[in-house]
Amino acid sequence: MSGKGQPKTAKYIFVTGGVTSSLGKGIIASSLAKLLQARGLSVTIQKLDPYINIDPGTLNPYEHGECYVTNDGAETDLDLGHYERFLGVPTSQANNITTGRVYFNVITKERRGDYLGKTVQVVPHITDEIKQNILLLGATGQYDIVITELGGCVGDIESLPFIEAARQLKWDLGEKNTLFIHLTLVPYIAAAGELKTKPTQHSVRALSEYGIQPDIIVCRTEHPIPQEMRRKIALFCNVSPNDVIEAMDAETIYDVPLLMRKEKLDQRALYKLDIYNDKDADLEQWKNFLGKLKNPTEQITIGLVGKYVELKDSYKSIAEGLIHAGAVNETKVNVVWISSENLVEGDYQKKLENLDGILVAPGFGERGIEGKINAVKYARENKVPFFGICLGMQCAVIEYARNVIGLENAHSSEMNKETPYPVIDLMEEQKLVTNKGGTMRLGAYACKLEKGSLAHHVYGKLNIQERHRHRYEFNNAYLEQFKNAGMSPTGINPDSGLVEVVELKDHPFFIGVQFHPEYKSNVANPAPLFVHFVKAALRNAIPLMKGTTK
Ligand code: GLN
Repeated sequence: MSGKGQPKTAKYIFVTGGVTSSLGKGIIASSLAKLLQARGLSVTIQKLDPYINIDPGTLNPYEHGECYVTNDGAETDLDLGHYERFLGVPTSQANNITTGRVYFNVITKERRGDYLGKTVQVVPHITDEIKQNILLLGATGQYDIVITELGGCVGDIESLPFIEAARQLKWDLGEKNTLFIHLTLVPYIAAAGELKTKPTQHSVRALSEYGIQPDIIVCRTEHPIPQEMRRKIALFCNVSPNDVIEAMDAETIYDVPLLMRKEKLDQRALYKLDIYNDKDADLEQWKNFLGKLKNPTEQITIGLVGKYVELKDSYKSIAEGLIHAGAVNETKVNVVWISSENLVEGDYQKKLENLDGILVAPGFGERGIEGKINAVKYARENKVPFFGICLGMQCAVIEYARNVIGLENAHSSEMNKETPYPVIDLMEEQKLVTNKGGTMRLGAYACKLEKGSLAHHVYGKLNIQERHRHRYEFNNAYLEQFKNAGMSPTGINPDSGLVEVVELKDHPFFIGVQFHPEYKSNVANPAPLFVHFVKAALRNAIPLMKGTTK
């Protein structure tokens, strides 16, 4: 490792997956990174995604879950959210590369004439581009270790160039500078009462056909893997039994770093990378968080109103933000997922009764919008703590315009171009934008809070930075009307004058934010708005006898 203040020379860990998707490569990568970080190493994680979209920004959340946004405005895979939540270190565009971006870069270079005279091919041109992107983070000199998670499953046609690039890097960088971890499934066959190693053997064989011998095999399992089975996996997969790591299903993802430490995943990785580090991982803060998470003294129920509620991953960072905030408040946060499309007809109010807080989620387009507006109305009138994020804030503005200020049919021009009162309107800089990909207001922007406001109380300071992802904004032509009617703009972008926060004074907790505070919530620093929303919901909650549920 390099000396203090010197640029660091990074070593590279690749995490591949086999047998099936959804085994949790992102969580294993994040957990290992956490353990290495807790030993004093500087670590970052990168995700390679094998699809042709340049980024997931244009994907419906039902296709790919939440689109996670970084400080530099990259629209990325939701695994980057896990990386930040575990490590507490910001990621950037360089942390997420898709096949689409790789091809786009290569084709752009081809048109420019960079390869003049050459036939441009998958090997070496695409693989070289992938290698360059993998090495980019290490080249900053900031990291001791770069972990690269290869999306998809070994054997998928589309992830082959990524695997080939990683294979080549082992020889470019040297064996002691690269490490391959393969995550597989050891299924339990209930009828036979047995764990099975065959899928692992096959997936390791498939990987070795591509020229990669994994150094460590992490086995996802529902039951403990006995020693003799570890030896069998080791024998068939050509590794030491010490390098067969058991990854048992956990109660919470936040348990996984501790489970991996017990299995000595970090020790094995350091040993194989020839890094001498005898520090014991300092996980005090992590354990403290887990202790609070697992031993709540209170519980509350939050209604999360959205239109992608069938797939919980669509709101991953919000769900995790509530978990972090729950832990800080030593409170179990039960989330009721409410489809806004069901909040329009009949006595929909019933669905909102018994909630200690209502969170209206971000989103795009017409579908479900009236239900979201109804949820805001219910929260405002019944003094239920309310937290609106992005479209949720815009709904709060529309609701206030229609039902308090009396602007009939007020709307966002996103949903109704003909509205007589476009209280939410397209941003000036968006008016000439025609391309959909990567053209929203994206990434971190400054916001100045009003002294003495709820937002000021929540953040404990006046100048904040939060991440954005939207095209529409509060229409400042209506600013005075809103102020006079009691809805205060308490957060303003100091450069553009855009309204970023609105709140109501005559309500116990009513706040809408144009930005996405959920992206910055992590274990070490839970997002203040989530922490205070849970606090407010706790005040609203009817005390429960321990062990009872609503
Ligand atoms: N659709 C709204 C806009 O583009 C809100 C976006 C969001 O909630 N992320 O402004």
